Amino acid sequence: MQSQNELRNILQRIDHRGYPAYKDTRGAYEFPGYVFSIDHVQGDPFAAPSKVSIHIRGKAAGFPENLWKEKCRRVALQDYLLRQFGKSLEKVSFQAKGSGKSGLMAVSRPGQEVLERSACEIDSQTGDIVLRMEIGFPANGRSINAGELEKICFKFLPESVRKALFYKALNAGEVQAVCDLSEDQQYIRKQLKELGLAAFVANGAILPRESGISGRPMKNAVVFQSPKSLEVTMELPHHGSITGMGIKNGITLVVGGGYHGKSTLLKALETGVYNHIPGDGREYVITDDTAMKIRAEDGRSIRDVDISMFIHDLPNGKDTVSFYTEDASGSTSQAANVVESMEAGTKVFLIDEDTSATNFMIRDELMQRVVHRDAEPIVPFIDRVEELYQSYGISTILVAGSSGSYFHKADCIIQMNRYEPVEITEFAKEQAKQFPLPEQKIEEAKAPDFARRVKPDKMIKEDNRLKIKTMGRDGISVNKETIDVRYVEQLMDGEQLASLGYLLKYANQHLFDGRKTLQEVTESLYEIMEKKGMAAICEGSYLPCGLAKPRKQEIFACINRYRRLGL
Ligand code: ADP
Ligand code: MG
Repeated sequence: MQSQNELRNILQRIDHRGYPAYKDTRGAYEFPGYVFSIDHVQGDPFAAPSKVSIHIRGKAAGFPENLWKEKCRRVALQDYLLRQFGKSLEKVSFQAKGSGKSGLMAVSRPGQEVLERSACEIDSQTGDIVLRMEIGFPANGRSINAGELEKICFKFLPESVRKALFYKALNAGEVQAVCDLSEDQQYIRKQLKELGLAAFVANGAILPRESGISGRPMKNAVVFQSPKSLEVTMELPHHGSITGMGIKNGITLVVGGGYHGKSTLLKALETGVYNHIPGDGREYVITDDTAMKIRAEDGRSIRDVDISMFIHDLPNGKDTVSFYTEDASGSTSQAANVVESMEAGTKVFLIDEDTSATNFMIRDELMQRVVHRDAEPIVPFIDRVEELYQSYGISTILVAGSSGSYFHKADCIIQMNRYEPVEITEFAKEQAKQFPLPEQKIEEAKAPDFARRVKPDKMIKEDNRLKIKTMGRDGISVNKETIDVRYVEQLMDGEQLASLGYLLKYANQHLFDGRKTLQEVTESLYEIMEKKGMAAICEGSYLPCGLAKPRKQEIFACINRYRRLGL
């Protein structure tokens, strides 16, 4: 460890020199109350900014143990500190000047969800805090402007650290509330299991968002109010009594006219697998955290998936027990999404008619009369939905605006009426009696085979300069190979994609061996992240600052969309 004065000396020595001399600053320096570590120095002022980290001893940071000892509270505190720190950086970023990215000071910018991120980690034993961020080391043209970096390291950064990362500088009540909320959220999630619920939507929740590109709550929205018949009350450890709509396990149908808020409710349930920050409006919208949005995804690749429970006897004689395609149709892609989610341990399917393949979801009576079953390779989802619940314990929450067929299958039917849910199960069932489904015998499907064993991909394995890049929230590129995850809708954040890239690389180096099944591989990846933290999966010289933890379901989803997956 060096002193802060040694950093000053280095800076004076390299001032005005060529940019690569900045590499001499790498190392850890003792500042009052924290250690400032320069982990990776950019090659030139226009390249990706340098990576630095701030390390604060738990004792010095001063956060009481009850704020971080428990996992869920710790994750919430990490997220809160990161947001506070980000706010304080806004005022100083680019205050130091120069060419290219000179003067940039940036940290991860979380959306509405609370995720575990490499940008801020608190040690579960000591309460030590690590904060990872980026700084654009300043230059004039391509020569070092050390005076500007000195301003950053000795003025801007210490101010932000002091303001955002020490307990005594923060609003104690607010910090406490953040941690308490996370515990309440975790409590609801546990209660779902106790009460046999797939999801809970609290009265008073705000579901719609400000706009298609903003995650913030819509102003003047109609607040959520559960139908009396579906109301459930829980006693939360901090918030106290809370009442809302409990969606029971089984088959739930959400109907209603166009524009009445069906998809908005479903979207809230999709993101309810994560916790939301105070003020989001969906703080108490909690979904079973294995829930998976299932949709059609034309054009995706499918590699060795057993979709025979939905599709068999294809006219081209293609095997659907071990189905491969580079370019799936609407129905085959949706079938694969269902089966892969079963493989990933999902207990709740979330489906919106708007994004489904119609021929995968239903076949109406007239069509069944005209085109005989023997000439139809698809067993539509409607003929499996009960079986999925009875044989596999998988519930379905389905939004349907145009087809009434599912009335016959649903255990609970909710109508969205001007953004207000109304339970209409009895009425709809009564009406449905007049439109009986045609009698037909559907054989129970053989349980899908999940024994896929993955071989390593040489391209990844042998390239020790492997380039992993993310394309925003849409794709991950591994060298030149792109994994398209646009339609994996519960990925919230580009940082989750970055983690997926590293996880794929790690799996390829250590776990894909032609013997382990994909389930075993994913289980191991998750366990490593849980036990050893995210650093364990990126075996570089430093932990990148922009990683967020994905769920197990999305790790599956990513591996499943890798077109070079060795099977
Ligand atoms: P549907 O799927 O039933 O056609 P959507 O869920 O897409 O309807 O909602 C239609 C519009 O109504 C959207 O622009 C959405 O933002 C808005 N909206 C949804 N819920 C509410 C609400 N509770 N209050 C106000 N506006 C809402
Ligand atoms: Mg809709």
